[in-house]
Amino acid sequence: MTHKRIAIFGSTGSIGTQALDVIAANPDLFSASILTAQSNDELLIKQALQFKPLVVVIGDEKKYQGVKDALAATNTKVLAGEKALEEAAAMDDYDMMLAAIVGYAGLKPTMQAVQKGKAIGLANKETLVVAGDIVMETALKNKVPVIPVDSEHSAIFQCLVGEGRNKIEKVILTASGGPFLGKKPNFLVNVKRDHALQHPNWSMGAKITIDSATLMNKGLEMIEAKWLFNLEPEQIQVMIHPQSIIHSMVQFEDGSIKAQMGLPDMKLPIQYAMAFPQRIANNFPRYDFKKPNTLTFEEPDIKTFRNLALAMDALNRGGNMPCVLNAANEIAVYAFLRNRIGFLDMTEVVEQTMQKIPFIQKPTLEEYFDSDGEARSFAASLIHM
Ligand code: NAD
Ligand code: MG
Repeated sequence: MTHKRIAIFGSTGSIGTQALDVIAANPDLFSASILTAQSNDELLIKQALQFKPLVVVIGDEKKYQGVKDALAATNTKVLAGEKALEEAAAMDDYDMMLAAIVGYAGLKPTMQAVQKGKAIGLANKETLVVAGDIVMETALKNKVPVIPVDSEHSAIFQCLVGEGRNKIEKVILTASGGPFLGKKPNFLVNVKRDHALQHPNWSMGAKITIDSATLMNKGLEMIEAKWLFNLEPEQIQVMIHPQSIIHSMVQFEDGSIKAQMGLPDMKLPIQYAMAFPQRIANNFPRYDFKKPNTLTFEEPDIKTFRNLALAMDALNRGGNMPCVLNAANEIAVYAFLRNRIGFLDMTEVVEQTMQKIPFIQKPTLEEYFDSDGEARSFAASLIHM
């Protein structure tokens, strides 16, 4: 494998820091050429001193001078602000973007990288939820590989290696069910942020952890799967699998099912995306079939976890609805994290926003941006009431 220069957009997050662990463990294979962070200047500086990237971007412009001073003795160029993310994404100095920014903010830099013909390791699922048709069309046109990092999609991707044109009957996305599996609305109504932030199997950023507790994450992943693997909504099934050992499955048209398994550890899909098509040796803990551990499966309770039903509705309706769902959900999740609204209110905000924002069948990129903005203001107005 030739050496790859990786641009980590969102290097201070859960995915970003684990990607840097993979780079540190494989210095012959990878280097970090661009690192970006929104506000954690201290960690960004520490990462820059260790990995010596060509460029760092700090989102919060108030922190620009501090980062610049701290890196004054190095060759790292420091940029700041939202526009600088796109500027960095348009640079020549990297081979693959690891898209690890959380939320809608990841869309524009990722789109820029796709337009530049850069390979994408995609953790930022919201990019495909918001504008999957345009992102994937542009990737196809520019022959850009979009390699999933999300564990379920990495599993499906791995199951498809070597299958050529063999038809997929359906994919089965597994979900842990989150910390409130089996709970009912009378319990969920009282759930507070700190409880919802405790995921049983995965340690992740705050937003995706809340999305996992509400099952919105699985809904976003259904939409992500549609665009990554060119599927119809009815080909995407969700099954609750609380042990998180099977990361997802593909059923082919002969009925054969392939699954990808392993302990829940995001470093595995991260390094797979970075090294694809090669696998690289590591010393991560292995799943042991000799230990007593029953793998179980059940259907998701979409009457209780209505966010998943709303995401399925957005998936079926298509157009700008997934974009609207995502925008309202981002507003709702951050309001919940600030203790402004309750756990079940998040669903209300998303549902009412989806009812309010006009449907557009085939939006342009500008129309996606507008739908996002309108959905955010409306969702925010519900919360301030
Ligand atoms: P995180 O909150 O831990 O990190 C987010 C990163 O994005 C940080 O580096 C932060 O500085 C940056 N960021 C945040 N807001 C920004 C903005 N407005 N502009 C620019 N940069 C910004 O998040 P995470 O858990 O690492 O998740 C990142 C993405 O990966 C999400 O889309 C998530 O759904 C996806 N993902 C994460 C995991 C996981 O295990 N953490 C698993 C699968 C998919
Ligand atoms: Mg996932």
